[in-house]
Amino acid sequence: MKIYSHSKVTMGGDMVFINPRKKSRELLYYEALKVRSHLSQDELYQYEVVVKGYEGECLYDDLLDESGHNNLLVLRDLYLKVGQSVTQFDSILISDYELKVNEIKNFSGDYKYVNDQLFKGNQTISDDPLHQLGRATGKIKRLVQPDKNRLLVEGKLIYVNDEFYLTSDNDMLWKNIVARGNLKRYFRQVNSVSSSGDRAEKLVEILQNHEVDNPYFNLKADFNRVKKGVYCGQCGSFHLQKDRFHFVCLSCGCKESNETHVLRAICDYQHLFYDDLMTRSKLYDFVDGKVSGKTIWRVLSKFCRIVKNGPSTYYKLNYHDFNEAMAAIDISSKRYKDIINLNN
Ligand SMILES: [Zn+2]
Repeated sequence: MKIYSHSKVTMGGDMVFINPRKKSRELLYYEALKVRSHLSQDELYQYEVVVKGYEGECLYDDLLDESGHNNLLVLRDLYLKVGQSVTQFDSILISDYELKVNEIKNFSGDYKYVNDQLFKGNQTISDDPLHQLGRATGKIKRLVQPDKNRLLVEGKLIYVNDEFYLTSDNDMLWKNIVARGNLKRYFRQVNSVSSSGDRAEKLVEILQNHEVDNPYFNLKADFNRVKKGVYCGQCGSFHLQKDRFHFVCLSCGCKESNETHVLRAICDYQHLFYDDLMTRSKLYDFVDGKVSGKTIWRVLSKFCRIVKNGPSTYYKLNYHDFNEAMAAIDISSKRYKDIINLNN
């Protein structure tokens, strides 16, 4: 879903992010699966990798915010189809005459480059970040044709973790790398020599014309495997006491409305079963009948669009995830409905 992709999202005065940083489909899948199922060792490992990556991206965003990017247009977390292949980009800093492709890594520990190969201890890192960066930068060059358009396209590997240590036998390596200690200076330097007018806007448009959904993540959960019901948004407990309009968590005391619980279930369903068609009755099974069919229908109508397929009616969530949907509804009514127990 690309809700904001063609409108500017302004954060912090006049600083412009073109699109918001969102949790990836993979992260949302594992988050929902983790609450509703027991993760295998492999799943847990992958979940932790994805969480760490996302935390690194958020840290990058914070540092970029602190450093200032008012002269730049910033595209984040997008998949671009160039030729027959699709490449993921963590962040692209765009100005009138420069594009900076930033590949963000949240690695921690001791790493070394030997013979153009990255190692952690004695273990080779299979998809070398420098090769990734080279591929990604090459794709961007194909799209914007730097020679013809008097553009500088440059890639940097951004290591955001301050516990990351790298040694190398090749001094040429360092020009492609920005480590945490130099990151703010790098951002300030990029921002200070940049301006973003019509040319930058045009570059954004060129890139966004090639934007596609992530084609690489296609895991779907087994409906029989996942735990049915509704759970507390604060502590994840399924032990809830139902009253007329709310559920109260018996573990932490958090009180959330029926609507909040149904919305969370809709989001989980969408993240776990991605392109499975969501119907009212499937959702009723998914919440284990804890909420009435009428309430489910009301919440589906509020947050989803209807997809007709012959005589059947399906629903598709209008938002990327639960947080985005909650942010879209009126804050005062939300406060009234949900009471988070802050004493726990
Ligand atoms: Zn709770």
